[in-house]
Amino acid sequence: MLGHSVTILLIEDNIAEARLLQEYLQQAESKQFSLVHVKRLGDALNALRHNNYDVILLDLTLPDSQGLSSLSLLIEQSPSIPIVVLTNTNDEDLAIEAVRQGAQDYLVKRQVNVHVLVRALCYAIERKQTLESLRILNKSLENRVEESTAELVKAQEINQFKSDFVSMFSHDIRNPLNTILLAAGLLQDNEEKLSQEKKHSHFQMIRSAIKNMAQLLDEVSFIGKADAGRLQCDLVAVDLEAFCRQLVEESQLVIKDKQIKVIFNFPQPLEPILLDESLFRHILANLLGNAIKYSHPGGQVKLELFNQEKTVTLKIQDSGIGISIEDQKQLFQPFHRGDNVGGISGTGLGLAIVKKCVDAHEGEIFVDSEVGVGTTVTVIFPKI
Ligand code: ATP
Ligand code: MG
Repeated sequence: MLGHSVTILLIEDNIAEARLLQEYLQQAESKQFSLVHVKRLGDALNALRHNNYDVILLDLTLPDSQGLSSLSLLIEQSPSIPIVVLTNTNDEDLAIEAVRQGAQDYLVKRQVNVHVLVRALCYAIERKQTLESLRILNKSLENRVEESTAELVKAQEINQFKSDFVSMFSHDIRNPLNTILLAAGLLQDNEEKLSQEKKHSHFQMIRSAIKNMAQLLDEVSFIGKADAGRLQCDLVAVDLEAFCRQLVEESQLVIKDKQIKVIFNFPQPLEPILLDESLFRHILANLLGNAIKYSHPGGQVKLELFNQEKTVTLKIQDSGIGISIEDQKQLFQPFHRGDNVGGISGTGLGLAIVKKCVDAHEGEIFVDSEVGVGTTVTVIFPKI
């Protein structure tokens, strides 16, 4: 320890006392000491702000501060520097209290000699260093306990999420399975009695149930892939405007069926931007699908693209059933569906997929909605 010369900050208003201590230190053979002497606490605090000291020697009666208040101010400003308190013979109780409040040691002025002084200074530094190492060790132990607790809580949450996921998935897969069982049973039991038309309709039901199951499986495996970090983002230059128009074209059947009007607003020309086409299709198809699905018949859906310097913003606005504030908090959780969806079918996976695709592009998504008024979803893509 302390191979270098020991730097002491002496805070003592009595010049004679200071000189005496200085002399003792010069006589010390085992160690080199360099001493900076100040007479007031204010000067000491100032010196500590600008320089490093190994130890502080503090007289408890100063012109600008009395007793233990000097000690607490010094500890507050320089918590890692050890302090040795200097007291008069009749002040020993005060000195002991100072040690209780954080001083490393005390010296009774009349009893000081070279040996006692050097020993007190060196022990104070040693003791403070040991305390400091213990404090750091303690802090790192505390951090590790906190980290482990957080990991445990996270693991519990993941377990809960997995079991919710499995039960929602089994529930959603059971519906189309029941349809298939029922329709197949009817076809088998009443083969002769059923008209050609009825048979056709039962087969149609079976096919659409199988299609639903396949879609559910695709969506679940997509989310699984994204959670495992295996979602690839292969960027190519995409003409967004053309892409949007084409996707709306593809949704014409549903749009016509519900008599929804889709209007475009592309105010600025847009050069092709780098996106993963397949992930972007998931985003747009799901958001457009929702806007149409949750609109009232005869409603209007607005699709907008805004070109900014570093970003491109996609906005899809409908005036449909809207989403309550409570549901908005859980929109991106797989299988979560709003309270107000009534008989509108869906699995609650669409927005979870959209979120993963937006994240893969390092983009952002915001939902602004009011029940009975409508919903606006905004997606911001960075231009890479
Ligand atoms: P699917 O998996 O078939 O897309 P979904 O549409 O129910 O089913 P999400 O797209 O994830 O699932 O949407 C989750 C929920 O958010 C919906 O069930 C609905 O309550 C609400 N929601 C999403 N978009 C809208 C919208 N444009 N208007 C009103 N509610 C919406
Ligand atoms: Mg949806």
